[in-house]
Amino acid sequence: MSDTEPDGPAAAEVLAGLQDKLQNDPETQSRARELAQNIHEIRDRMTAASTAATSSRQTSEGPLLIAVSKLKPAIDILALHADGQDHFGENYVQELSKKQPILPQTIRWHFIGSLQSSAISKLARLPNLHAIHSIDSAKKAVTLNRQRPDELPPVRVFIQVNTSGEDSKSGLPPSGEDLWTAVTTVRKECPKLILEGLMTIGAIARSQAAKEGEENEDFITLVNVAEELEARIKKEEGEKVTLKLSMGMSDDFENAIDLGANYVRVGSSIFGSRPAKADAKIL
Ligand SMILES: *Cc1c(COP(=O)(O)O)cnc(C)c1O
Repeated sequence: MSDTEPDGPAAAEVLAGLQDKLQNDPETQSRARELAQNIHEIRDRMTAASTAATSSRQTSEGPLLIAVSKLKPAIDILALHADGQDHFGENYVQELSKKQPILPQTIRWHFIGSLQSSAISKLARLPNLHAIHSIDSAKKAVTLNRQRPDELPPVRVFIQVNTSGEDSKSGLPPSGEDLWTAVTTVRKECPKLILEGLMTIGAIARSQAAKEGEENEDFITLVNVAEELEARIKKEEGEKVTLKLSMGMSDDFENAIDLGANYVRVGSSIFGSRPAKADAKIL
């Protein structure tokens, strides 16, 4: 990966090259068909899970699929976008900053990786940044709000909750005042941000248990935390708000939908396994 991002004309040329490849290169077209088939399967499974879901947290439009494209090439994203997928998730600011200019501006980007304070200004300037799922302090929310340019639309944010309590996971503890402070700070002090809801990743072990038919405790915790926060907002501020839930990945999105997920983040079941970060290529 080079360290510079292509400017307008150079970026348009790169995109034209990718589009040409998608229209004319048989190998690229075969990959595009494979990706489309994979994502259609995921959407079918989401619809089935959503139809059978027991949670009352679902909205009428059903859960939204975020295709997690981290470490995958731009052509894969373009192929799926041409097939009708608009929402893509990325974990690394550098990588997203390189993909964003060379791909169509109709893509809606979700930043789902761990959020370093130093990377916020770069993220804030991406025009088609749809949401950040990994806000883990009131301070980062304030910084993002300050750095989002006035001429760009507001950014949706999710507060990340560390439901599993693992040291390796980011996010605020499910109980304690820090989470409440982050929620109220976004609501009251951040006009360039929209509080969309809460996000959890959860423990791998619980995700595997969920695959075998058990309920994922991390998802149950996130639902409970959302209900507590909604009740507190109602009590202290007299407002009825619904927090959306971002939870569920390749191994456990059906269980997440059953428990009330509004956004699921699915990567490897669509794109296949990922290369090591050092081997990943955008072009
Ligand atoms: C990578 C990643 C995903 C997607 O994981 P898969 O198991 O490949 O579906 C979802 N959420 C976050 C936060 C991730 O980092």
